[in-house]
Parts: sequence; structure tokens; C-alpha cells
Amino acid sequence: MPFQKLKLDTFMNGLTKRNPGEKKFHQAVYEVANDLIPYINKNPQYLIENILERMTEADRIIIFRVCWEDKDGNVRTNRGYRVQYSNAIGPYKGGIRFHPDVNLDTFKFLAFEQMFKNSLTTLPMGAAKGGANFNPKGKTDREIMRFCQAYMAELHRHIGHNRDIPAGDIGVGQREINYLFGQFKKTENVFTGTVTGKSVESGGSFIRKEATGYGAVYFAKNMLAQKGESIKGKSCIISGSGNVAQYAAEKIIELGGKVLALSDSKGTLFDKDGVNSEKLKHIMDIKNNKKSPLEEYLKVYPKAEFHKNKTPWAIPCDMAFPCATENELDEEDAKKLISNNCQAVIEGANMPATPGAFKVFLDKKILFAPGKAANAGGVAISGLEMSQNSMRLQWSEKEIDTKLQEIMEKIHQRCLDYGTEKNHVNYVKGANIGGFVKVANTMLQHGIL
Ligand code: NDP
Repeated sequence: MPFQKLKLDTFMNGLTKRNPGEKKFHQAVYEVANDLIPYINKNPQYLIENILERMTEADRIIIFRVCWEDKDGNVRTNRGYRVQYSNAIGPYKGGIRFHPDVNLDTFKFLAFEQMFKNSLTTLPMGAAKGGANFNPKGKTDREIMRFCQAYMAELHRHIGHNRDIPAGDIGVGQREINYLFGQFKKTENVFTGTVTGKSVESGGSFIRKEATGYGAVYFAKNMLAQKGESIKGKSCIISGSGNVAQYAAEKIIELGGKVLALSDSKGTLFDKDGVNSEKLKHIMDIKNNKKSPLEEYLKVYPKAEFHKNKTPWAIPCDMAFPCATENELDEEDAKKLISNNCQAVIEGANMPATPGAFKVFLDKKILFAPGKAANAGGVAISGLEMSQNSMRLQWSEKEIDTKLQEIMEKIHQRCLDYGTEKNHVNYVKGANIGGFVKVANTMLQHGIL
């Protein structure tokens, strides 16, 4: 019997019906299905086994209550999540996000993206994502600790070093990871690499905290090299000033680029003289130690400007690195970047460009790296942290950095393999199909599950 070819509209209608109101999840699936459906229609083994429909359904979703006591003795209740999306190519793996705005939609979209990203790293990691609608801002260290303990008091029964290995994301840095790991170890009475992003003293990997930002810049370096260019002398704007943004900035500066802007949830910092290493150290102190708004930069460097409630995208630049959060760069922003002659956009965050912005970048054929390829460096080093924990050893900083560069080069090559079109590389298509193939093939091999 001939199998009916997939149609994008019909497929998306079905998905929207099955997942009502989950707009970010619809968006993430649409961006992938757009490239995958023509590919699947030409490769009937995936069509026959209904791979795309199976891939857009998570293996399981865990939702739970998290109760804890704040510093004033009030009993607080939050909602915890873990979406165990796919273990086709390895144990579930993906970060934990603590942010007041998250809901199931957030974690489904992130876990879905994670499946392609983890596949692209070439390491054996499945996909998951989780977190809670907890706002870490303004909480004391003890409150953070109690919340992490309460969250892990439930999560521990669903994870393990061969089952599901959480890591950090927005609102979850090394401090939170160490508390989560501590609680897991205490409850299970085992010392295994079940959480990654730990401090080096607790079995964490060198370069993990730098890996996502560095990796995005290594990816950009590979894209530019294709055109015989380099980052040296290029003006760059970055959104966010958290983990990914800070280390993207550090690597850009090291490679001779000029960082003109960073941002946070309160607005954009514009320093026309460029943020050098010393200024970046100050930003790290403001955001990581003092946990203060970025605007404080002006107290020490008053010549800079702070554009309240503004994103950085109107600032003329050669390269843009959205590294804050999803849907932070829309169609108008994309047009502005193009009209200012921006040559490359590299997504350090997950899905920072809206569908409208996506279309502008693809139509204009600028260098556009989707997050699932460009920000995969973080999870790649998490994968290496898992290996080091299993082997009970620790590779040096230099060894890890070399491996990170190799992995980013392989991801870039995979994008070229599947995304090269006439005189142009479509990195979105390359990452989508390149990430899909490995997962889909193992699903075929494992049977109908
Ligand atoms: P952090 O929490 O360290 O930093 C997030 C930054 O983005 C902060 O500067 C924050 O501002 C800003 N921000 C958050 N929400 C908004 C918003 N709605 N509007 C404007 N600014 C906002 O997170 P990470 O750096 O770890 O993560 C950033 C992005 O990168 C996320 O999309 C994440 O999923 C993705 N990512 C992270 C990886 C990692 O290894 N950490 C790996 C792969 C992807 P403020 O300080 O004011 O809150």
C-alpha cells in the first residue's frame, strides 16, 4: 500500500489540536517540520514508521508539587516539571530552569529542541528539560538551598546517571546545581554523575561554565572561516548578561572582536568603546556575585549608556548573538539588523528568534546559526562531564577546550552536509536534518515503542 506523503499544514493542525495553547512547542516543531517533511517524504522508511508523529510526543512528563519554607517562615508552593522527551540515543539529558514564567509549554519546546541538539553533538545523549516556576531573584542563599532540596526531594526518584541527567539553565547556575547534586547524593546515598554543571571540586568538568558561550563563538568562527573571514575586528552585540552571554563575550574579546553591547531583563548596556576583559570582569562581578542589575556598570564606566527596557538589536554591528531567552528578537528587530548590515546572527539562547525573524534571516541569506547547533557546546561538555564521572577522572582545561572546538567543528560540518544549497549554507535546515537522522534511525532500529 503506498503511504500518504506528509503535508506541513495537516501535520501542524494535528499537533496543535493534540497540544492546545502550547505556542512555543508549536513554534519549535514548525521550525523543524518545515525542513523535515520534504526530507521524510523523500525517505519513506521514516514515513512508513510514522517517525515524525512519534518524535513530537514526549516519552513521559512528570509534574509535581514543590513545598518549601521561606526565610520568614511562610510555606510556599511551586510547580516542578521534568519532561523526559527521548532516550533513543542515550539517557535523558537537559537543563533545569527556575523562572516565574515557565509552564509545561516552555519545557516541551525546550526538550524537543534538546533532542536535535544532543544528537548533533555526536555524543550518546537523549533529551529532557525541566524546572519550576520559582523566582530565584531576591531570595537568600538559604532559601535557594531549601528550594533546590525540595525540588530534588521529588525529582530524585525519576533520574540517575544511566536514566536522566539534569543540568543548569536560566536561573540555575553552579550554586543551584551543587545544592541539587548534594540533595540527590544524600537521598540516594550514591556519588554518581547524575547532575552536570557541578563545581570542579564536586566532580564537575573544567570549561563547563564557559562551554555554551565559547561554543557559540567557535561555531561562528567556523561559519566565517567558510567565507575566508574571521571574528577579528568585527563589532558584536550580545543580549543577556548571564552565563551564555558572559562567556560568548569573553571568547569574542579573546579572538579580537569588539563587544559593543550586552543586556539584561531591565535593558541594554551600550559601550561604544567596547567591553574589554577588565570591563567584562566587572560585569561578571555585578551579575554573578552582587546579583545586581547590569545598569550598575555605569557607576564605574560612566561614558557607557544604559537603554532602559530596550533590546540591543537597533545598535549597528557586524554580528549579533542573542543569548538571553526565547522570542527575544522579532521580525522588526531582524529587519533593523539587516538594514544595519549585520552579517551573522548566532543563537546562543534557545529559540531567541521569532518565526518572523527566522524568515527574514533565511530570505536574506545571511549567516544564521540556530541555537540547536550553535549553543550545543554546553550540553556537549556536560556529556564529557558524565564520561569523566563514570571513569572517575578529570581532564585538563586544555583537553576539554580542544574537545569542545572539535565538537563544534563536527556540528558545523553536519550542518554543511545537510544544509548546503546553491552558493549558500542553510544552517537551519542542516541542523534540523542533521540532528534528526541519528535519532530517527535508532527509533527504526529499536522497533515500535
Ligand atoms: P542565565 O540565567 O545565566 O542568564 C539569562 C540572561 O538573560 C540574564 O541576563 C537575564 O537577565 C536575561 N533574561 C532572562 N529572561 C529575559 C527576558 N524575558 N527578557 C530579557 N532578558 C532576559 O541563563 P543562561 O545564560 O544559562 O541561558 C540563556 C539562554 O541560553 C537560555 O535560552 C538558555 O536556555 C540557553 N542555553 C543555556 C545553556 C547553558 O549552558 N547555560 C545551554 C544551552 C542553551 P536578568 O539578569 O535581569 O535576569
